[in-house]
Amino acid sequence: MKKRLFTPGPTPVPENVMLRMAAPIIHHRNPEFVEILSRVHADLKYLFQTEQPVVVLSSSGTGGMEATVTSLFSPGDKLITVNGGKFGERWGQLAKTFTGNCVELTVEWGTAVQPEQILEALKNNPDTKGVLITHSETSTGTATDIKAIAQIVRENSDALICVDGITAVGAHEVRFDEWGLDACVTGSQKGLMMPPGLAMIALSERAAKAIEASKTPNYYFSLKKALKSHAKDDTPYTPAVSLVIGLDESLQMIKAEGIENVWKRHERLANACREGCAALGMKLFSNSPSFAVTPVWLPEGVDWKTFNKALKSDNGITVAAGQDEYKGKIFRISHLGFYDELDMLLVIGALEFTLKQIGHPFEYGSGVSAVQKAFLS
Ligand SMILES: *Cc1c(COP(=O)(O)O)cnc(C)c1O
Repeated sequence: MKKRLFTPGPTPVPENVMLRMAAPIIHHRNPEFVEILSRVHADLKYLFQTEQPVVVLSSSGTGGMEATVTSLFSPGDKLITVNGGKFGERWGQLAKTFTGNCVELTVEWGTAVQPEQILEALKNNPDTKGVLITHSETSTGTATDIKAIAQIVRENSDALICVDGITAVGAHEVRFDEWGLDACVTGSQKGLMMPPGLAMIALSERAAKAIEASKTPNYYFSLKKALKSHAKDDTPYTPAVSLVIGLDESLQMIKAEGIENVWKRHERLANACREGCAALGMKLFSNSPSFAVTPVWLPEGVDWKTFNKALKSDNGITVAAGQDEYKGKIFRISHLGFYDELDMLLVIGALEFTLKQIGHPFEYGSGVSAVQKAFLS
């Protein structure tokens, strides 16, 4: 049986990326590697649509978030965060841990924070130093209008705009320079079609100034050191050499497709996935759907464990479970990274097999047909 991953990180890795990483290791001071790293640095600017530096850290995405908080801010700095899922909650936990001064807005899971809510929080907290926000909240499959929020923050404060773009970069439109963002983090195992292990952070000039002024202690996760090395196409410590080489390959794929086409493909797949699920009589969870992952309510009377076991052991499909209070209530289908139209037919087809097997009523073929129609329209 073929095993197929439909989770929003790790995501499937293309064969050419795996083959590049399987080559014998090279030394990171070797000119061959320096050339690769400098190409990666240039291509990451294209990915984030920026002329400003994008640093690469050897860590998962959360390391990039932590480096952002400890490098840009100082103890006592007031940070606004938005908790509408696991990852927005994480920005809040980082803020509480490192500056100890966090204004946390809470929004219902599956709902996006509105620009007016951010504006109100800024008006009530004029001393805010940073707004930490999640572009695509993976736990709830919910997308937030970062462009509009960035504009409101810029017009009404000097707060730095820090975006968790971990499942947005390479899935949703992200224009770092045009939107006036200050830090945007992503991770290798999401839209970049790579194994876990790298975090990438785009940093503005304003962020670079804040980094010079920050008083929060850090050592390995210092963006000051990372920026200094970046200027020489170097890294402060031994980079994850094989992963950087894999990233070189996946960035070539993204460049060949064109970043705008990559965004459009994700939107197209997300729409088709939602159509397919709805046609099977399943309710969608988010009212502001992400293009990276589709969360779906489990049909009434369907037990998550039975459903997941049938999907996995009889069809080889891994989807993601719901988190926290939605565990056992929703599941999440990923279309982030290395996916195409036929993958959506496949996953909806597998859902049909599974739902049939466990006795959920629907018309056989209706989900697959809805996916096909979505691609024709
Ligand atoms: C996966 C993810 C993270 C955490 O990344 P790790 O690589 O697991 O550290 C943070 N934010 C979002 C939105 C994510 O999807």
